[in-house]
Amino acid sequence: MRYSHVFGHTIRHDPKDETTANARLLVRAGFVDKLHAGVYSYLPLGLRTLDRITAIVREEMDAAGGQELHLPMLHPKANWVATGGWDAIDVLFHVPSRTGREYALGQSHEEVISPLVRARARSVEDLPLALYQVGWKFRDELRAKSGVLRGREFLMCDLYSFHADQADFDRFYAEMKSAYLRVYGRLGLTAKVTEASGGAFSEKLSYEFMVLTDAGEDDIRYCPACDFCVNVEVATVSAGDRCPRCGEAELAEARASEVGNVFDLGTRYARAFDHTVRGSNGAAVHPVMGCFGIGITRAMGVIAETFHDDSGLIWPRAVAPARVHLVTIGEAGAAAGPDVYRRLVAALGPRDVLWDDRRTSAGVKLADADLIGLPERVVVSDRTLADGDVEISERQGGAGRRVALAGIDRWARDLVAPEANLPVA
Ligand code: ATP
Ligand code: MG
Repeated sequence: MRYSHVFGHTIRHDPKDETTANARLLVRAGFVDKLHAGVYSYLPLGLRTLDRITAIVREEMDAAGGQELHLPMLHPKANWVATGGWDAIDVLFHVPSRTGREYALGQSHEEVISPLVRARARSVEDLPLALYQVGWKFRDELRAKSGVLRGREFLMCDLYSFHADQADFDRFYAEMKSAYLRVYGRLGLTAKVTEASGGAFSEKLSYEFMVLTDAGEDDIRYCPACDFCVNVEVATVSAGDRCPRCGEAELAEARASEVGNVFDLGTRYARAFDHTVRGSNGAAVHPVMGCFGIGITRAMGVIAETFHDDSGLIWPRAVAPARVHLVTIGEAGAAAGPDVYRRLVAALGPRDVLWDDRRTSAGVKLADADLIGLPERVVVSDRTLADGDVEISERQGGAGRRVALAGIDRWARDLVAPEANLPVA
């Protein structure tokens, strides 16, 4: 990608109405643009990052046995009346039609997937089933002031599972909790598993995945010595109490953002939609259902909150919109640019190299590279070329180093194939 062609260049000054780092930096770096409160356009660099997050989520959902599908966002009112959600769910957008009918905008998809599965899963032989999508959700949130952490329109990976009995659900629940932790780990985040209430319709516990950040909207109490963690909303323990799980340390309290939530829905939806399957003994049973949600756009915001400094974003490699920022400076740098760019692209592919080919000052280019936050930077200037070199540095810090211009292909190949460096056994 040539930066001169990329839609959505950096903005010098902080947007006025944004207080959180994710909103300020994602807007300034040209990743998102606010249409109105809680509703953002994702520009090419921002969409690239969302895609990278989504790809990781997809891999883990597939590995857990999930099958991807796409569900509609415009729902008939009747489905939401059937579960009571039409009146009970305050964030549900109601959409009137000129025909006199009413619709709901999907805030979650139990009301769509339940009748879909009812029509196709008729016997316990058809179970278990794990179906997921990566799709936009709409919620009539009262406040949306934390950038992409709280949208009125946001991307979620929502998986729904259907089981012949509670034991099979419990097995899957445990597997999915591990899959979720793998997702957050791959995104560079440390998530704490928090026991919380089961949501609007359930007395059962749910598990929330919380990442510590002051920009979050949840308060959690957790043990610094073990994995005990609860949401303050439902907590029966206080900050400073001895940990009820390990007894080793006193509970701490912190702000956090909920990046995922998994629920045991029991047979509630199967009953609402009258879904039974033939059991092995011929009797009809209601399948047990689970629902599992990862906030993709929120995860992007939490990553931005977690990885930035005063100069800009610092993307973890796994989710960076591109790997290498090529900065050419001065006349000689500009002249060498096309050849270095071509060689980097040959090793990494066109999407992973962002070349700032603009005719602008070194100061502006380096400041923009800091703001955009790609993991690796290659600077080609009159000064480095005088020694036959380029300068390589990492956005996360540390001193830059010189590499011979002739060695740039090898360096780029090693970035994507680190095992190439291992000695052959
Ligand atoms: P919150 O308590 O933050 O309002 P929730 O508990 O209502 O969220 P869930 O229904 O559990 O949200 O949705 C699953 C996941 O989707 C959440 O864990 C979160 O990561 C994400 N999410 C929920 N609401 C939003 C939103 N308004 N904007 C961005 N992401 C969201
Ligand atoms: Mg939740």
